[in-house]
Amino acid sequence: MRQATVLILGGTTEARELAGLLAGDDDLRVITSYAGRTTDPRKPAGETRSGGFRGPAGLRAWLAAHAPAILVDATHPFAETVSAHAAAADGVPRLRLVRPGWTELRGDRWLRVDSLDRAADLVPGSGRRALITTGRQRIATFTTHPGCRALPLLLVRCVEPPEIELPANVHLVLDRGPFTKESERDLLERHAIDVVVAKDSGGDATRAKLDAARERGIPVILVDRPPSVPMPTVRTPAEAAARVRELLSGP
Ligand code: NAP
Repeated sequence: MRQATVLILGGTTEARELAGLLAGDDDLRVITSYAGRTTDPRKPAGETRSGGFRGPAGLRAWLAAHAPAILVDATHPFAETVSAHAAAADGVPRLRLVRPGWTELRGDRWLRVDSLDRAADLVPGSGRRALITTGRQRIATFTTHPGCRALPLLLVRCVEPPEIELPANVHLVLDRGPFTKESERDLLERHAIDVVVAKDSGGDATRAKLDAARERGIPVILVDRPPSVPMPTVRTPAEAAARVRELLSGP
């Protein structure tokens, strides 16, 4: 039987779940693509490939060579570049799978900002011991910010160590989650954290820090998502699987 190829741009729980939902179908060949940055990506069902495509032209070339029936962009809401490349790769049906952002609950003290730079500007006026969970890639936004450098503690939590030298006020915690409210409460208490910085990633795996912050009455500086890409969009792996099957079953 000729199989239809589904390319999933991954790196998220949702991508892995979608691969799990589709890979059992005999008529589908499911390939999940990773950027190849983390050393231990949790393997999804089906096939995987790793590494950038080398820009929009490289992605187009890959699509021409492998002729997938659909591309599902299930990358992280903050993975702006690869999503823009996927949006520009016309000629193949595309679908965006992105989890909803978080919504504020009673008792939350959120300061929403539109950039990491703005978040760094607000940290010194919001607390003295900050938990920074915005990822390692642009951690220099905080570690080189004069106001942040003057604080007693920047507790930086990320999956892989940053590739830059860290100043003395940074304490690094390497952890990938999922996190529980109990473990987050413990982390905040142990380090006497009085402000949390996070990206509006959405989902359950990393939301416990917001719950622990609410419980302790401490502010959260929350970085808003970049603008969404112009692609048909679904919110859950189940919806995405249904749309893929619908599309592949033809008119
Ligand atoms: P990005 O800035 O949008 O992408 C940078 C480059 O990485 C892209 O131009 C592309 O390289 C390559 N790339 C990214 N995702 C890829 C994929 N799934 N398959 C193949 N190449 C990919 O992305 P990012 O923010 O660095 O995130 C990298 C990966 O980590 C993404 O897959 C994302 O889902 C995951 N992730 C990101 C975050 C976050 O906060 N940004 C959080 C959790 C997981 P080429 O131009 O060479 O094709």
